[in-house]
Amino acid sequence: MIQTEQIDSVIKFRLARGFLGRPAYWTAAYFADGLLVDTGCHFTARELCSALRRHTVRYIVNTHHHEDHIGANAEIVREHGATIYAHPLALPYLRDPSLIGLQLYRRVFWGWPMPSEGREAPREILTERHRFHVIHAPGHSPDHLVLYEPNMGWAFTGDLFIGGRDRAYRPDYDIRATLESLRRLAALDISYLFPGSGSVRQNPRQEILDKIAYLEELHERIRQLHTRGWDEKRIARALFGREGSLTYLTGGHFSSVNLVRVFLRDT
Ligand SMILES: [Zn+2]
Repeated sequence: MIQTEQIDSVIKFRLARGFLGRPAYWTAAYFADGLLVDTGCHFTARELCSALRRHTVRYIVNTHHHEDHIGANAEIVREHGATIYAHPLALPYLRDPSLIGLQLYRRVFWGWPMPSEGREAPREILTERHRFHVIHAPGHSPDHLVLYEPNMGWAFTGDLFIGGRDRAYRPDYDIRATLESLRRLAALDISYLFPGSGSVRQNPRQEILDKIAYLEELHERIRQLHTRGWDEKRIARALFGREGSLTYLTGGHFSSVNLVRVFLRDT
């Protein structure tokens, strides 16, 4: 399934595999001035390719190597001859997506991407009208990039910034790096924040600062409970209650116990 919307002069594509006419999970790709940020998942590759047919894609930037961000790389390169840029740590996964090691829920929602060949992203990417700064922003993954266009105030943030209050994490998140990356993001002058979820924010600074404050407070509470001798499960239960449906759906990959573990790793 695909939904297209123009915001400022950026085209937003929301993409999801459909089950009985319903979207399973939305991800987003953004297109501006010949540059495509992320390519959705394997199941939506053909739809994204069709939607881009009247444009010329010169560059693809993958914010990180996860399968819902690189899924149409190969197909778009075949049609447009685009150059793919990503962080050096992402390149082996692009070349051989089997290295990602997808759990069942990820195979069902997003599928295995086709292999593609990327290059190390330069510090700046120039298009006809824009100059995009490439900023390393690890945390969600070690290879995460943010693209920032200072003249327009655009920030393409992939999965670095997700709104709301986190209750469940994957075990491989790095909370210290996430907080550092979010602080760097909050220091930028952003008019539009284009996240991997597709929920575009205008003037997001306060929301980013609120998120940082929430994560710092959570870190402190987890640390305090841990010094009382509480184990991960007991802390998770006290702070978040029972595990939610996400935990069951992902076979335990996303859970509040994992969130507590991720925070305690940095305590
Ligand atoms: Zn991701």
